Amino acid sequence: MIINIKSEKRTQLIDITSDIQDAVRSARIDEGLCYVFVPHTTAAVTINENADPDVRTDIKTILNKMIPWEGGYRHIEGNSAAHMKTSLVGSSELVAIENGKLVLGTWQGIYFCEFDGPRARKVVLKLMRAPSEK
Ligand code: ZN
Repeated sequence: MIINIKSEKRTQLIDITSDIQDAVRSARIDEGLCYVFVPHTTAAVTINENADPDVRTDIKTILNKMIPWEGGYRHIEGNSAAHMKTSLVGSSELVAIENGKLVLGTWQGIYFCEFDGPRARKVVLKLMRAPSEK
C-alpha cells in the first residue's frame, strides 16, 4: 500500500497519522503491526508531538543548525544535508495496531519528513495482521 505525498517546502514535516489510520481501517485489521517505510534518500519518517506545532518548527530548526545546507560537502548534487538528515531521522517506523487503531500516545503523531522538497513522494505501508486474529 502506498500513500502519495506532495511536499510544498524544502524542509517540511507532514502529519500522515490520519492517512495511515485510514489504511488500517480499510484493511480491517484489529490486532497487528503497521510498518511505515519511506523509500527516498532525502526524506524520512518520525513520531513526535502532534499538539504544539512549535515542536515541529524546533525539530526543523535544530536539524538545520546541526546539518547546515552549506558545509563543504563532496556530493555533487548539492543536497548532502538532506541525505544526512534522512539517515539521522530514519526511514521507517513500526507501530502496533490494537482494536483497529494505531497505538500512539495522546500527543504522538506520525510525520513524513521532507528534507529536499518540494517533491512528489511515497510512503510504503505494510500492514500485518496478528496470527491470533481470525
Ligand atoms: Zn543527493
